[in-house]
Amino acid sequence: MSEQLHDAEAKAKKAQFEGNKLTKRLRHQVGDAINDFNMIEEGDRVMVCLSGGKDSYTLLDILLGLQKSAPINFSIVAVNLDQKQPGFPEHVLPQYLESIGVEYRIVEEDTYSIVKRLVPEGKTTCSLCSRLRRGILYRVADELGATKIALGHHRDDILHTFFLNMFYGGKLKAMPPKLVSDDGKHMVIRPLAYCREKDIERYATLRAFPIIPCNLCGSQPNLQRQVVKEMVNDWDKRFPGRVESMFRAMQNVVPSHLADTGLFDFAGLQTGDAPFEGGDTAFDKEEFRDPQPPVEDDDAAPQAAAPRRTISILDSRPKAPSEASGGSCGA
Ligand code: SF4
Repeated sequence: MSEQLHDAEAKAKKAQFEGNKLTKRLRHQVGDAINDFNMIEEGDRVMVCLSGGKDSYTLLDILLGLQKSAPINFSIVAVNLDQKQPGFPEHVLPQYLESIGVEYRIVEEDTYSIVKRLVPEGKTTCSLCSRLRRGILYRVADELGATKIALGHHRDDILHTFFLNMFYGGKLKAMPPKLVSDDGKHMVIRPLAYCREKDIERYATLRAFPIIPCNLCGSQPNLQRQVVKEMVNDWDKRFPGRVESMFRAMQNVVPSHLADTGLFDFAGLQTGDAPFEGGDTAFDKEEFRDPQPPVEDDDAAPQAAAPRRTISILDSRPKAPSEASGGSCGA
C-alpha cells in the first residue's frame, strides 16, 4: 500500500515538474515573440480575441501572467464574438472570465444567420464568416480603445499557411506575427508565433480550460489545411527537427537566392559586386545535414534571429520605491 502511495506521489511530482517546464517554455516563447517583433509597448491596451478554443485561452492566460511581472504597463481586455451558432454555450466564457477577474466584453452578432442566408448550400462558409467577424472585431477594438489586437495563431498555423500559399497560391507567404490590419487602423499581433501546437494542447489540458467545440457552425473542415497539417505532423514524427528548421527558414530569407526580381535586383547585378556570404558558388553541390531535434530545455537558445530588445517583457518589473524600502512613509 505504501509502495502504491509512493508511486502515486512520484507520478504527481513528475507531472508537476513537467507542467512547470511547459509553462516556463510557453511563457518564454511568447515573451521572445513579443520582444522580437515589438508587439506590446508601454501603455498598450491589448484586445485578446477569445474564441473558446485552446489557442486563445492559452494566449490570454500567458499574457495575463506576463502582465503581472513585465517591466512595462499594459492592459488586457478579452473579447468574444458570439456569432449565434446553434448550441453555442453562452455561459461558458463569461463564467470563466469572471472567475479569473479579467476585463472582458462579449459581443453578440448573428453572423451565423447572415452566412446561412447568403452562402448557397454546400458551399464553404468560412470566408464570408471570417470577413464579417473581422469587421466586427475592428469596430469593437475602436470602441474599447484597443491599441493592439491579439490573435491565438501559433507556429504550426504559420507553417501550414506557408505551405498552403506555396501549394495553392504560388506565393512564398505565411502569416505574419505582426501586421497592420487591412483597414490600416489597427495593429494585429500573434504572440503565440513561436509556440508549438502540441505544447498548447498540453497546456490547455493542464490548465483545464473550458473548451468550446469549434464545429458548432456545421461548416466542413478546410480539407486543404487538414492535408497540409497531416503532412507537417508526419514530417515532425519521422524527421525530428525538420519543423523547427522550416520555421527558422522563415526568419532567415535570402532574396538573392530566390527568383523574385521585385525583391532582388538581378538585372542590375554586376561582376565585381560582393558575393553573398554563404551563398552558392554556382558550381559546388551544397551538402545538407539533418537538423537537430528540438531541445525541450527551457534554457535553449531563443528561436528568433532578431537581436534582443533592451527592455524585455520577460524581465521583472522594477520594485516601486515604497516596495523597495519596505513600505511608504505615509506622508
Ligand atoms: S468554421 Fe464556422 S465559425 Fe469558423 S470561420 Fe468557418 S464558418 Fe465561421
